[in-house]
Amino acid sequence: MTSTTRQQPATTPVPKPQHQAALAHHLAVGDAVVTTLLDTSMQGSLAILTNIDEAKAQQLHAASRRAEPRITLNAFLVNLDDRLILIDTGIGIYAGESGSYMRQALDSIGVAPEAIDTVLLTHLHADHVGGLIDADDNALFPNATVMAPARELEFWTGDDADSLPESRQKHVQAARRALASYADRIKELNGGEVLPGIEMVALPGHTPGHCGYMITSGNEQLLIWGDIVHLPAIQLPCPQTGIMFDVDAEQAQKTRLELLAQVARDGTRVAGMHLEFPAIGHIANDGEGYLFLPISWQPRV
Ligand SMILES: [Zn+2]
Repeated sequence: MTSTTRQQPATTPVPKPQHQAALAHHLAVGDAVVTTLLDTSMQGSLAILTNIDEAKAQQLHAASRRAEPRITLNAFLVNLDDRLILIDTGIGIYAGESGSYMRQALDSIGVAPEAIDTVLLTHLHADHVGGLIDADDNALFPNATVMAPARELEFWTGDDADSLPESRQKHVQAARRALASYADRIKELNGGEVLPGIEMVALPGHTPGHCGYMITSGNEQLLIWGDIVHLPAIQLPCPQTGIMFDVDAEQAQKTRLELLAQVARDGTRVAGMHLEFPAIGHIANDGEGYLFLPISWQPRV
C-alpha cells in the first residue's frame, strides 16, 4: 500500500498580496514625464448614468466583462522644465471604504508633497480636491500654488454658491473646505497657457468651469481631459450617456461629443481621471461610438 501524504512546503508560505506593487505609471511626453497616480477605484452603479436606457447600459456593461461598474480615479503628476505639477489630487479625505492612495503613489516614486510647486485642478468636485488637505485640514502641499479655472472657483466657492440647490451643497462644502488652507495662494485661470508647456482647454458642462490641460513638449502632446467620461465601458460606445453629477447635462453631452470626435479625428493622445489605469491612450471611431486604445505598459520610460 502506498501512502499519498501531502508534502509540507519546505519554506514559510509567501503572504498573498493585498495591494498592487505599483500605483504609478510614467510616460514620456517629449522632455516631460507624465505620471499617472492611481488614487482609488470607487463603487459605481449603472443607476448614476443619464440619457441611456437601462437595458442598453446593462448590455454594454455585460459586454465589458467587468464584474461591476467601478469608477477608476487617477491624478497626474507632470515633471516639466524642473517643475512638479500635480493635476487633481484624488478623493483624499472624502474617501469611503475604497480608500485613497494618491499619497502612497507619490511616496512610491520618491516625490515628497513639499516638492510639488503647483496643483492644477480640472474642476472642484470632491474626488478631485479631497487630496489637497489632511484630516486636520492642513495643506498637504505646503509649497504649492493651487490653480483652478476662475469660472469653477466662482461657481463652487463664490457668494452665489450658497443659493445652489440642496443637492449641490455637499460639493460646495467639499470644495470650500479643501481650498480653505490655500486661501492666499490660489490662482484663477482664464484659459490659454497657464504654465510653460501647459494649456488650459475649456470643457464645460460636467461642471461650469470644468477643463482639461494640454501638455506639449517638443513635438509631443497629451491632453488630460478631466471627467469627459466616468464609466468608459458605457460612455465611449454610447457617448450620449451622461452622469447624474453633470451640472449642465446638455452642455456636458455637447462637450463630450465634440471632444471625442476631435481627438478621434486628430489622433490626439488622451488621459483621463476616470479612465482605467494607467488611463492613457487614443480614441478610435467604432460604429456609432468610440473605442479606447490604451497605451501598453513599458519597462522603460
Ligand atoms: Zn470626477
